[in-house]
Amino acid sequence: MLADLHVHVGRAGGRPVKIAASARLTVTGIIAESVERKGLDAVGIVDAHSPPVLEELEALVGEGRVTSLPGGGLRYGGQLLPGGGPQPAGQLLLLLAAEVEVAEPGVGLVHYLGYLPDLPTARGFSRFLASRVTNVTLSSQRARTAGEELALWLGREGGFLVPAHVFTPHKGFLGAGGTDLRQAFTDKALASVPAVELGLSADAAMADLLPGLDPFTYLTNSDAHSPEAIGREHNALELGPEPDFAGVATAVREGRVTANFGLDPRLGKYHRAFCPRCGFTGGGQATTGRECPACGRSGLVGGVLDRVLVLAGEAARSGARRGRPPYVHQIPLRHVPGVGPVALRRLLAAFGTEMAVLHRVPASDLEAAVGERLASAITAGRSGTAALDIAPGAGGRYGRVRAEARAPQGSETTT
Ligand SMILES: [Zn+2]
Ligand SMILES: [Zn+2]
Repeated sequence: MLADLHVHVGRAGGRPVKIAASARLTVTGIIAESVERKGLDAVGIVDAHSPPVLEELEALVGEGRVTSLPGGGLRYGGQLLPGGGPQPAGQLLLLLAAEVEVAEPGVGLVHYLGYLPDLPTARGFSRFLASRVTNVTLSSQRARTAGEELALWLGREGGFLVPAHVFTPHKGFLGAGGTDLRQAFTDKALASVPAVELGLSADAAMADLLPGLDPFTYLTNSDAHSPEAIGREHNALELGPEPDFAGVATAVREGRVTANFGLDPRLGKYHRAFCPRCGFTGGGQATTGRECPACGRSGLVGGVLDRVLVLAGEAARSGARRGRPPYVHQIPLRHVPGVGPVALRRLLAAFGTEMAVLHRVPASDLEAAVGERLASAITAGRSGTAALDIAPGAGGRYGRVRAEARAPQGSETTT
């Protein structure tokens, strides 16, 4: 099952939820995009603490367009829009979650994702949060709470907590200044923290440099602020034939993620350190501290790789690391060199969804639909074998593909 467990809502009930996110990211917009174009099996809506989002979800359940599952989560089964017109076809498991910002003493500002089993629990979490934030309608608000309290609350109610984009200087636990989750969590609370989210600028190989992360499953999610970005990172989970919240929670807890599909971390927004004053971008060894090594002024924005190298140096891993599923540096379809809007339309018309193109369609069928050159770019992009020359992302700007390096001979025939 392919799951993206971190998608934001831009608007609900005619009001903004995530200010910086697209107004097209409505609850029904997320369902339609996830089912129809992306072909995901599960999607996590991380603003399900927001009353207008809850009202829309409850209305969909009331109208029978979405079903509450006995094991938690909601199922969309193919009837989204009122009237008898064409409907986004397919099945989708909707998971409820909330992203919360917390000031952790000794660490900094941190984002946590709280996953909630069902609508009544999400209502309860919304009430809990309302007493600790200024405006509970909005996404990722600073809450007067702590990771410890959140994890214990979630554990009691059958949910779980995941530190979001854990390495980013911008509100990731380890990126913001933390060195170990035990700084903020007791063992009792950590029982409800089964995973960390790696974020776009990191991958499993980088995270594996830190022995403190061995107990945690790695999740790769999109943190989508627009419909297009849904699924740009996703996870393959091993689940039974009737997926529900309980199944996902167990799979995450037991590490039954069979593959992580994520961007090349150099394409993320915070891969290397960056000086907004002079434009210095880190490279090679770690750049640390707040002072720019090039111009000497302060205000350096940290890099994820820089931070991981520092933490890895302090931790000095010895001994075996935990076995991890494959991490595939997959290029989202719309970013594969040569795939423009026309080719994308042709691919979706021929094969249905982006996930089908990225995971299931044989190379020979791709070739028949879009020709040999594009088909080989797609197969290289989906299997992580594209040799890309990348200018790494830094300071909040995505990395850029400078040019497609010549693919090593023969690599284009493997998928
Ligand atoms: Zn966040
Ligand atoms: Zn987010």
